[in-house]
Formats: sequence, structure tokens, C-alpha cells
Amino acid sequence: MLSLVEGLEMVIQMNEFQFIDAIKPKTYKQPSLIKGIGDDAAVFRQTSQDIVTAVDTFVEDIHFSTKTTEPEHIGYRALAANISDLAAMGAKPAFYLVSITIPKNSNLSRLQAIFQGMNQLAAEYQMDLIGGDTVSGRELTISITVIGFVDHERVRYRHQAEPGDKVFVTGTLGDSRAGLYILQNDIEVKNREYFIRRHQTPTPRVAFAQALSSLTRVALNDISDGIANEASEIAEASKHPLYIYEDKIPVSQHFNQFSAERQRNWKLFGGEDFELLGTVPEKDWPMVQNAAEQTNVQVTAIGYVGDLKEANDELVYLYENAKLRPLTKLGYDHLK
Ligand code: ADP
Ligand code: MG
Repeated sequence: MLSLVEGLEMVIQMNEFQFIDAIKPKTYKQPSLIKGIGDDAAVFRQTSQDIVTAVDTFVEDIHFSTKTTEPEHIGYRALAANISDLAAMGAKPAFYLVSITIPKNSNLSRLQAIFQGMNQLAAEYQMDLIGGDTVSGRELTISITVIGFVDHERVRYRHQAEPGDKVFVTGTLGDSRAGLYILQNDIEVKNREYFIRRHQTPTPRVAFAQALSSLTRVALNDISDGIANEASEIAEASKHPLYIYEDKIPVSQHFNQFSAERQRNWKLFGGEDFELLGTVPEKDWPMVQNAAEQTNVQVTAIGYVGDLKEANDELVYLYENAKLRPLTKLGYDHLK
């Protein structure tokens, strides 16, 4: 006879297997995949391109709240954040793996809904779920690893910014933060659904980044923590200052209905828009505009990379109300 502990473990095991079975894809789409879910590890074969990989972890009540977010959207946003990192490297998404920590007494259908949300977005990119891990723990935690491919010499590093480059950004900034504010305060505003959608189901700019593939040099970074933070990451990596015009930062229609202070905070420091911030040689700017047009993405020139030694390299400067000031990051620091 089984001891009580062994019996309990069996129940947990059974549930774990059932769970994995429920989320396991029926078919795979990526031609390079050799073995997906079901063995000790997944296998794919890649010979002609570079492999790009990233991981992001989302903890309940830090990165998302089950009170303001539907399970589908939790999954969707978590994968979108990861895909956005691949886009910012110039890579084409191919695979993802999901490590999930599940609190006791979790509702199976809600967990499945999280995976459905991921699956919905993954389908747009023919991405396959090829593995993961399932454990129990105190907080619902989702850690996603993504894998993508990029042609040799076409990876888009932050350090590639050069003096004289144009600085540009896709889409409009601050919308996701506005959407979160609307949800948290349950308020009626103009374009309410638009802002909420931008928060719940952001669009990673994969197609746009792919359309830049003929350019030999572009520095890219995705806006996950706010443009102030992302611009300093490019400045630090490239060791060149970035100059940004505050009044050129694109915002959406009706963004101006919020207080001036909120507008400023959200467009500079509001995260999770998952737009791309980039720099390109001036001569290539028309090709960037072309790529934007082809992929139906708005692109706006907002500044330039400094070429004067008078500035403190590695810093971001903001032209605001006819003044030029260093822009502090003020992003969210998990270790502080
Ligand atoms: P092992 O004990 O060898 O680590 P597991 O029992 O953890 O294997 O997982 C069995 C299979 O299910 C593996 O292919 C693993 O990648 C997959 N898997 C487990 N958890 C998840 C998950 N949360 N998402 C996707 N695949 C998963
Ligand atoms: Mg395992």
C-alpha cells in the first residue's frame, strides 16, 4: 500500500501530467524543430542563422495582478514582452518555453487560459511551445524563454549607435501606462478601449524590425521600462550621448486628456509600450520610413546621437521648454 505522502505525491504527479497534456501543442509549425514537448529536452537544428534567446519572469502582484488582468492577458503580455526582446535584436521568433510556479488550489481552467493567451500571440508568429517546467510554490510566477533566428551580421545591438545617427521611435508612448491607470481607477475617458487594449495586448514590433533587414547598421532597444531608461541603455552601451526633443515624442490621439504631469511621466517613464527605440545613420532614415510604411507602423524621428565631446558621453539629454537637461532614468529597479 502507498503511504499517505506517496499517495499525495501521486495526486500531484497526475495533475502535473494532466496539466502538461492540456497545454501541449497538437502540432508544431517550425521546420527546424526535431523534438518538442515529451522528452527530457527539446531539440531543433539550425545551421544557417544565429540563434537569439532571452528569458523574462513575471510574478503575481509585482508584474501583474489577477485583480485587474484576465488570465488570457497575463499570458499574452508575458509572451509579448519576450517577443519584443527578440524584435529588438532583429530576430524572428521561433520557439518558447514556459516555466510556471503554481500556488496550491489554483484553478486549472485559469491556468489553461494563461497558456491560451500565449498561444494566441504565438500563432501570429508561427511560434512553437517546445518545453518548460511545472512546479508548485507560493506565488503564481511565469518565466518564459524565447528563441529566435537572425541572419549573420544582422543582429541589432545597442552598442551600434554612432555619432550623427537619427534617433527614432515606433508607435506612440505612454498608452500602456494610461491603460493601466484607467483599469486601476475604473474611469471613463475618451479612447478608453484603445488605452486598455494597448496595456493588455501590446503588439511587439517584429514585422517592422524584420523590414529593416537590408540595413547594415541599426541600434535597437524595446521600450519595456520607459524611453528614458531605454535611451540610457543605448547611450551606455554605445558610449555616446543621446539627444531627445520632448515635444517630438509621439503620443496617441486623446493622450492630452490626462494631466500634464501624468502625460510627461507616462511618455518618458511609463513602461510596457513595447515600441522600438532605434538609431540609424541619417542616410538610411528614408529606408526606416519605408519599412514603417510597409508594416503599417508609425515611426517618428525624435532626436540624434551626439557627436560633441562637450557632452558627458553615456547620458541622455532632453530638450524641453527651450532648455537642455540630462534625463534621469527613474525606471523601476527591482533590487531597490
Ligand atoms: P523532466 O522531469 O524530465 O524535467 P517534466 O516532467 O518536467 O520532465 O516535463 C515533461 C515534458 O513536459 C518536458 O518535455 C517539458 O519540457 C514539458 N513541460 C513541463 N512543464 C511545462 C510547461 N509549463 N510548459 C511547457 N512544457 C512543459
Ligand atoms: Mg522538469
